[in-house]
Amino acid sequence: MSHPASGATAPGSTAAVPAIEVRALCKTFGSNEVLKGIDFHVDQGEVVCVIGPSGSGKSTLLRCVNRLEEPTTGTVMVEGIDITDSETDLDDVRTRIGMVFQQFNLFPHLTVLKNLTLAQQRAKRRSRSEATEIARRNLAKVGLAEKADAFPAQLSGGQQQRVAIARALSMDPDMMLFDEPTSALDPELVGDVLEVMKELAKEGMTMMVVTHEMGFAREVGDRVVFMDGGVVVEQGKPEDVLGNPQHERTKLFLSKVL
Ligand code: ADP
Ligand code: MG
Repeated sequence: MSHPASGATAPGSTAAVPAIEVRALCKTFGSNEVLKGIDFHVDQGEVVCVIGPSGSGKSTLLRCVNRLEEPTTGTVMVEGIDITDSETDLDDVRTRIGMVFQQFNLFPHLTVLKNLTLAQQRAKRRSRSEATEIARRNLAKVGLAEKADAFPAQLSGGQQQRVAIARALSMDPDMMLFDEPTSALDPELVGDVLEVMKELAKEGMTMMVVTHEMGFAREVGDRVVFMDGGVVVEQGKPEDVLGNPQHERTKLFLSKVL
């Protein structure tokens, strides 16, 4: 199968291809059936927030999108490319997907700038000067231009997470996946990170965001997907799912978090 030349931004026929399309996805760990037939998609330019109780399979779903987890059965398409196909160049697909986790996963022994340039030089084959220019641009974007020479430990958790976002952006991803990016942060540091994510959304970035921040989901999400027990229970516009949930399980969950 031929790959579209430049994914999301290619003109014409690829425009209607979803950024992410998951069909009948099942994932088991031993005898633990964690995903029980998930149908899920994110359109290009769409912001989809995934909510649900701890253990419902949100992270596993997100991790299946770039095959950090191997799906047991079902298909996962990224920009029309079946990533479960053994013929697929997984490295190529992964360079299109920026990931941000709860733990920031910065290299502690490298400066902020080096954290941002390393993967660009290795995976994108950029020169040091080009990588540095792109890194500085993205640091400015997340409000941390002056921290280029700092080490991660010298930054607050919120700043470290913004560095992690800038690092992902420096790879020019077509889409960004966030797995509870603010859950490890002190409450007063959450806002700055959400603000950066909101700006990204405004610029049209395609985003899948696993989050417990219902305010963010309501304000920034185009769609909210509620998962429980390895299935998608309910999804729709934020005001519908959060404001007028149809299922008992959604109501119960929201009564605990809102
Ligand atoms: P959530 O992100 O919604 O909290 P997860 O996707 O992390 O849920 O986990 C769903 C279930 O899958 C949990 O029961 C968890 O223990 C199990 N699980 C997740 N990853 C693994 C793994 N690598 N090995 C075994 N079990 C796992
Ligand atoms: Mg999780």
